[in-house]
Amino acid sequence: MGKVTGFLEIDRQDRGYKPAADRIRHYSEFVIPLSEEGTREQASRCMNCGIPFCHNGCPVNNQIPDWNDLVYRGDWEEAARNLHSTNNFPEFTGRICPAPCEAACTLNLEDIPVTIKTVECAIVDRAWESGFVRPEPAEKKTGKKVAVIGSGPAGLAAAQQLARAGHEVHVYEKFAKAGGLLRYGIPDFKLEKGLIDRRVAQMEAEGVVFHYDSNIGVTIPAKEIHDGHDAVILAGGSEKPRDLPIPGRDLAGVHFAMDFLPQQNRRVSRERLANDPILASGKHVVVIGGGDTGSDCIGTSVRQGALSVTQLEIMQKPPAKEDKLTSWPYWPLKLRTSSSHMEGADRDFGVMTKAFVGDAGVKGLKCVRVDDHFKEIPGSEFELRADLVLLAMGFVSPVHEGLLQQLGVTTDPRGNVQADTNAYRTSVDKVFAAGDMRRGQSLVVWAIREGRQAARAVDLFLMGASELPR
Ligand SMILES: Cc1cc2nc3c(=O)[nH]c(=O)nc-3n(C[C@H](O)[C@H](O)[C@H](O)COP(=O)(O)OP(=O)(O)OC[C@H]3O[C@@H](n4cnc5c(N)ncnc54)[C@H](O)[C@@H]3O)c2cc1C
Ligand code: SF4
Repeated sequence: MGKVTGFLEIDRQDRGYKPAADRIRHYSEFVIPLSEEGTREQASRCMNCGIPFCHNGCPVNNQIPDWNDLVYRGDWEEAARNLHSTNNFPEFTGRICPAPCEAACTLNLEDIPVTIKTVECAIVDRAWESGFVRPEPAEKKTGKKVAVIGSGPAGLAAAQQLARAGHEVHVYEKFAKAGGLLRYGIPDFKLEKGLIDRRVAQMEAEGVVFHYDSNIGVTIPAKEIHDGHDAVILAGGSEKPRDLPIPGRDLAGVHFAMDFLPQQNRRVSRERLANDPILASGKHVVVIGGGDTGSDCIGTSVRQGALSVTQLEIMQKPPAKEDKLTSWPYWPLKLRTSSSHMEGADRDFGVMTKAFVGDAGVKGLKCVRVDDHFKEIPGSEFELRADLVLLAMGFVSPVHEGLLQQLGVTTDPRGNVQADTNAYRTSVDKVFAAGDMRRGQSLVVWAIREGRQAARAVDLFLMGASELPR
């Protein structure tokens, strides 16, 4: 695989970023791809491990050493075919996946993993440019009709697989456009939305029918969808945000991250805003929560012209470097600094917010430092100025009102739709579930995996056999 001595001869080199001072002036992507030669060199560092761990680290089990070898040899078309055999949407993961594959790479033992995500992105971007990505309509139709509710990565992956297996697939989406959190959560500077549009066009050419502004359980009764299809996949995501019910929570200027981020994405794509604008311009912003959502709030606030951005995390600051011998090949806990952090945000760890203060609108936060058991440290109280507070503390479960209650599906103790990862079947006849709606808040790559596997389970249910991959 690759060049046997590549990892000895060639240093790891990854994609760079355009300078922060330039990129914060716009909402476009700012990652600088490697040259073709540079990508092939990086792919050649894949070193013919006895047992490669990367493809188990990857939730869709991408056949990483195989396509690294193909890229090294310059066979981009076969690399694209191989990559698409396990991942419907590598252009999404090649941009925003946290790359657990690289954590699992044997070269990561020396902190120099193969730049797997960069190679993946180069393969698929080149495949689109070269016309290798084409619609693959089914040769035979089965006459079965499947509804997919939700057009995030789980719903899209399931719909594409099912259409290619010959089923008539209808995707129902409550918003005006497809993509779920890819479209309305993740900012354009991480993932430009034209990437979703061209996949939707490919899927339409494969026969998938998209029904927008269709909120199942609200504007269309769930029973109508259940009665009108041979199978239904629930892929509605995990949309109920975790709240912070402390004094001052109802002050103006305290918002959930997902009230703030989608507005900016809609501004970029010139969609109408449903609510009053929430803007960080000229404000001191505090983001509570340290994950991807918090990071996206930082990057968006900086671009809107915030005076300052501070991110608070209740957990203690993780170590800068993991202990490889106890963590490898698994995903390690360590300090992660995103491109948004580099654009100018203060980060503080081990901080609990006790109250929001202000009169009509929020003016600040009362905070206290906590130890690693979240016990308050006496005398460590402090106040922080804020005109805008964004709550980015994750999501507790799918929304139960409407769709799930009307169908009467059983939920698990965490409030997610109950279904296993073999049959993906819920407690209701011919209803399946995949993605964040089933597994809880997760990652795009896991949603793609679940969408693909649920599609196979539905195909098996409808036809008694399936040639779709697991
Ligand atoms: C701000 C933010 C940033 C993130 N960044 C990253 C990242 O960088 N990398 C990463 O891997 N993951 C990231 N994630 C997580 C990732 O986006 C999700 O795990 C993934 O999108 C889940 O996919 P899904 O298809 O299950 O659900 P979603 O993407 O949530 O899609 C669900 C869709 O269902 C629709 N829907 C819901 N109910 C109904 C209904 N009743 N009728 C019709 N339609 C309905 C919704 O409108 C939505 O379009 C991020 C999440 C957030 C919130
Ligand atoms: S999908 Fe994610 S984990 Fe899999 S190869 Fe791509 S970057 Fe790595």
